[in-house]
Amino acid sequence: MNNVSLETIVSLAKRRGFVFPGSDIYGGLAGTYDYGPHGVALRNNLKQIWWRRFVETRDDMYGVDAAILMNPKAWVASGHVGGFSDPQVECTNCNNRQRTDHLLENDRNYWLFLKAVGEAIDSALITERGTSSKLSEALTNLKSKESLSEKAIDDGLRKARELAGKLAGFDIMTQVATDEIVNATKYFGKYTQEYLNAFITCPSCEAKSKWGLPRQFNMMFKTSIGATEDESSITYLRPETAGGMFVNFKNIVDAYHPKLPFGMGQIGKAFRNEIAPREFVFRLRELEQMEVEYFVRPQEWEAAFDSWKEVMTAYANEIGLSMERFHPTEIQAEDLAHYSKRTIDFEYEYPFGRRELWGLAYRTDFDLKAHMEASGVSLEYLDEEVKKKLVPHVIEPSLGVDRTFLAVLAAAYDEDELGGEKRVVLRFNPKVAPVKAMVSPLLKNKPELVEKAREVRKALQKIHPAIAWDDNGNIGKRYRRQDEIGTPWCVTIDFDTLGETEELKDTVTVRNRDTGEQERMSLVEVEALLSEALV
Ligand SMILES: [Zn+2]
Repeated sequence: MNNVSLETIVSLAKRRGFVFPGSDIYGGLAGTYDYGPHGVALRNNLKQIWWRRFVETRDDMYGVDAAILMNPKAWVASGHVGGFSDPQVECTNCNNRQRTDHLLENDRNYWLFLKAVGEAIDSALITERGTSSKLSEALTNLKSKESLSEKAIDDGLRKARELAGKLAGFDIMTQVATDEIVNATKYFGKYTQEYLNAFITCPSCEAKSKWGLPRQFNMMFKTSIGATEDESSITYLRPETAGGMFVNFKNIVDAYHPKLPFGMGQIGKAFRNEIAPREFVFRLRELEQMEVEYFVRPQEWEAAFDSWKEVMTAYANEIGLSMERFHPTEIQAEDLAHYSKRTIDFEYEYPFGRRELWGLAYRTDFDLKAHMEASGVSLEYLDEEVKKKLVPHVIEPSLGVDRTFLAVLAAAYDEDELGGEKRVVLRFNPKVAPVKAMVSPLLKNKPELVEKAREVRKALQKIHPAIAWDDNGNIGKRYRRQDEIGTPWCVTIDFDTLGETEELKDTVTVRNRDTGEQERMSLVEVEALLSEALV
């Protein structure tokens, strides 16, 4: 296993046309990246394999491509208008917003501080229980100090007790989970603000400044439809592709009459106004998702969940992720979203640490019921087998194209020594490699070699179109260029191919990317080699 830095990946990606910064000549646009020719090819391969495995080759799956712009009522129903938010805090000096969880990530003292606050509130409650005057005194003190309403204090105390219990058992040295900070800043907003003021300088203006109250900010991109810009014209760029599938549930049922269980699959762009996009294409403002909504009878959810977990793991293997760095992680019951009964985060060890790659969630009937209520249209399914109507439950495998792309790129990256020379090589599985093979004539000033090489390239392109041509510089340099973009084979046409040595006629030299070894084989054998590796 290699240990490549993110900087190395970013620099190779730009140099070899995988990924460029968005709007580069204008100084970029944070949270956006543009994919170059090799990046597009790699992404297309990842998406194509996904589509084949998750949708096309299955009898129970239906592909859709829903509009990015949707009726805003759909986003109210799904909870995104009310709740799709990030914990943020504003610097009152430069007015820049920061992600609260990023400012406090891995801040051991913050957690010790919160733990102390939680325990203090908790013990005050327990020791004063029954002595109502002291309790109300404590509340009055808190109230004057916090200028909060009675209800807010009650709510705060209840949450504080829950959190104090959680924090007591929290291993302070393990990486802080984002959710923990989201909850903490929500319930301990005032205390968090005090802590920020005392210890955290603003990363934008570097002033040790006064911070505002940490708040949740909605992450959806607003836009308006039509000629007028008022409340009624507002809609959003979709923050996920799932909504486009739920609103088409009835259309698929009416058009295809599928038997349960069945599902829908979609690949498409989604937009999130991340306050702190970072780690290259890991956290983007414009991203692409590959999602499935799989509808089941309530009692069948476990089998479907396990089977999708297997499909996702097989996909990870097929696209060449390092299985030692691939960690399906069960989310503990108390951390699950309120509508979910089971969720797995597929985590991956990226160059910058172990983070979420994909997700698999059992979402019960939450989504269909919410859309049914908000739209007033029945999304019940008539189960012919038992002659009963039901709202199906849903299993949701959700994968990000960009995160997958980054993981595959990092997994493939390697440096070694070949023939006494250091080289960079991307060890892609041939199925995902942007270029499958490179064909070149030994010498570019010999027309008969060039003509034969063109013929060979044409023949190989019948097996796969992504066959490159390179006749620049010496053969060694051509090989190095292909190694850097992960081309599995280089095919060279020489005078023996033309028949200079009778028994070698129509044979070529095939050079293997991983070993650097060269082998003489017939054209028929090269074609077989490619077909077999690309199935
Ligand atoms: Zn500032």
